[in-house]
Amino acid sequence: MKLTLLGVWGPFPAPDGGCSSYLVEDGDTKILLDCGSGALSKLRALYPDLPALDAIVLSHMHADHAGEIHLFRYMCEFGLMQSPLRVFSPETDKLRFPVFDPIQTTDGMQATVGSLTLRFTSVRHAVPTTGVRITDANGHSLFYTGDTGWFDGLIDAAKGADLLLADACLRDETNEKALKNHMTVAQVLSLRQQADCEAAILTHLFPDGAPYPPIIDRHVLYAAEGMQLTSRS
Ligand SMILES: [Zn+2]
Ligand SMILES: [Zn+2]
Repeated sequence: MKLTLLGVWGPFPAPDGGCSSYLVEDGDTKILLDCGSGALSKLRALYPDLPALDAIVLSHMHADHAGEIHLFRYMCEFGLMQSPLRVFSPETDKLRFPVFDPIQTTDGMQATVGSLTLRFTSVRHAVPTTGVRITDANGHSLFYTGDTGWFDGLIDAAKGADLLLADACLRDETNEKALKNHMTVAQVLSLRQQADCEAAILTHLFPDGAPYPPIIDRHVLYAAEGMQLTSRS
């Protein structure tokens, strides 16, 4: 399984950057995880001949995660991308177009996409949001939190995953309102430790303000656009 970070910023992009978007590949299977701003252009830069996507998984419908979904609709409508295109999302009202096959995600739901197994977990955010665990045939897995505040259920959802891809945008640990919707770096480090994940990527980075504190752990990285990680075979 290979993960490519296309866009890593939220809730708005850094200059020349993109918002949440990640490509997961396993053999011929391709899943786009979220499609914030820049997702389509970065995917086209990566694959000038657009690849067939087996599904788009939207963690939630906030613009920094789903803002470009209708650009993918246009690509389908112009016949430049195969359709119907499966789109998983906890809210499907705005996805009812002939070129989409919308599938509503719920807590505990499982699905198979090509060679990959998906398991969704409802997380804590201002709107319905599902995190997703993606597992390949070799048992390697990643858990993507989407946007979420801390809750203990994250530990079970991420338990034993090889890679934790987690919302770590919150800089102010005293902002009670924001803590309901996002996690701090310290919370993600704690989640990685409690869930026994081999590695973690801190993403959904807030683009303005002071730099994030340094990480003293070779298994934890800040997300960077273009970064690719491949699971051991
Ligand atoms: Zn977000
Ligand atoms: Zn959000």
